[in-house]
Amino acid sequence: MQTKGVRFKVPLILVVEDEINIVELLSFNLQKEGYRVIAALDGNTALKLVREEKPDLIILDIMLPGMDGLEICRFLKSDPETAMTPIIILSAKGEVLERVLGLEMGADDYMAKPFSPREVVARVKTQLRKKAQLTGMSAAASEKDEIRVNQLVIRPEKYEVVLNGEKLELTPKEFEILHFLAKNPGRVLTRDMLLERIWGYEYMRETRTVDVHIRYLRRKIEKDPARPKYIETVRGVGYRFKDRNHG
Ligand code: CA
Repeated sequence: MQTKGVRFKVPLILVVEDEINIVELLSFNLQKEGYRVIAALDGNTALKLVREEKPDLIILDIMLPGMDGLEICRFLKSDPETAMTPIIILSAKGEVLERVLGLEMGADDYMAKPFSPREVVARVKTQLRKKAQLTGMSAAASEKDEIRVNQLVIRPEKYEVVLNGEKLELTPKEFEILHFLAKNPGRVLTRDMLLERIWGYEYMRETRTVDVHIRYLRRKIEKDPARPKYIETVRGVGYRFKDRNHG
């Protein structure tokens, strides 16, 4: 239940994990840093807590009884109400595939078990800072930040993209990629630049993640994804938003 009046400034973190010792380890370390922590041991409880408590960040294990972490992640990221809530995925499987899969589902970060609690705390801080920046940015943004290229309109303050008068369903990551490219028309942005800018990873060099997101994005904004009108591939380097003067 949402109570009226003063809202706590202390961020609330939801830990979704069925291994109680990991829940305790994370709770202990996050509380030590001054965060409030709630926990769910399964997917359904997690979704219920998200609705009722509106956590500021979610740490989500993949292997859960019932609905697994990736499904939960996809569900939350596709709901405008929760799409902006950072999600850090936890998994026992350290496979690249799992990692990319987690990011495709819209997760903001990924940690393989076993992890150090200190590292988790550091990543939580990073994600909360990023979220605060984005929120601040969108609050400060106004109509003049709107970008229009041909039939495409990007409205950063609403995280909204309109193509031919129709609103598109983009994931937050797809939006950020498109916005970043469109803000730099005609400039070649390397995959590493996009990774660092959008995901903020310095330790992760899965450039395929960028390609996968661009592919999804093109399906949504390009009439013919094989002959892109907006986002060009610069072979072996990265991507470029077509200069509006030549669009
Ligand atoms: Ca588990």
